[in-house]
Amino acid sequence: MKNSKNVNMSAADKNAQRLEKMRATLQRLEDTAAQILEKGDSMTPADRMQLLQLLNIAYHKTGKIQDIASIDGSVTCGFCEKMRACAANNPLLICGYCYAAADAYKEASWRRHKLNARILSSVLFTEEELKTLAIPAMRCRINEDGDIANVTHARNVLRIQKTHDYIKFGFWYKNVPAVNEALRLEGITCRADLPQNVTFVQSSVLIGIPAAPAWFTDIVFTVWPTEELTLQAIAAGSYECNGRKCMTCGFNCYHAAARRTGKAQHVAECLRCNAAQRARILEAYNAYITNKRSA
Ligand code: SF4
Repeated sequence: MKNSKNVNMSAADKNAQRLEKMRATLQRLEDTAAQILEKGDSMTPADRMQLLQLLNIAYHKTGKIQDIASIDGSVTCGFCEKMRACAANNPLLICGYCYAAADAYKEASWRRHKLNARILSSVLFTEEELKTLAIPAMRCRINEDGDIANVTHARNVLRIQKTHDYIKFGFWYKNVPAVNEALRLEGITCRADLPQNVTFVQSSVLIGIPAAPAWFTDIVFTVWPTEELTLQAIAAGSYECNGRKCMTCGFNCYHAAARRTGKAQHVAECLRCNAAQRARILEAYNAYITNKRSA
């Protein structure tokens, strides 16, 4: 008869085996991508298609974005890393409380997203190539994790949205300059030209301080330091993101309704953090408000 120690050992062994297998698969995908990317200009059409097949397009069965697909960037991209480095000296920078970076222990998604960012920021794919991508839902979030790494990444995202115009996209970004430049290079220069199937969601970089919307932004998404300040923002006209499930809010960030009003809509969410972090943020926030009033 097996004793409980043996049963536990066997479960641990199984887990270790699963982990090893998962790591071997990820390593194979990363090595394949690296070998193709190394070819640079001598990449063949078949190489480019193989790279596209390495992209991770997720379908979320549960959680906040249940029934939504996502094409994620990576919190390890240069843009995100710079933002987190700056956050070390500024408690109001939202990147210092990045849920995705804190989830680094989820090795599989961490590495798949890193690969996504590497591929999408290195090669500008054609519309013919991108229309072969299978997106397994009628709504798709760009960047549930990570951000736009560079202009090439943003152009690929815009082309994916164009070639999948039957899907509604919520396109999240902090990297406004990269998206702005990508829009210009893709020939989109005014609000009337913006794709109808995309809602442009600009995340405010500072906690409790709504960003000035870029010309193409439909929604400014701001995270507030406390419940009270979140409720004040909602009372002042912000739409409430309860942060639990997009389906219960009617997918506000996916139907570009704000664009029809001619100005960006504000969405407010309360920051999830611990008490010590909240106290530090509030101190910086109150100092900012006091300085602003006396300026
Ligand atoms: S406002 Fe609604 S659609 Fe947007 S992130 Fe929050 S729950 Fe999701």
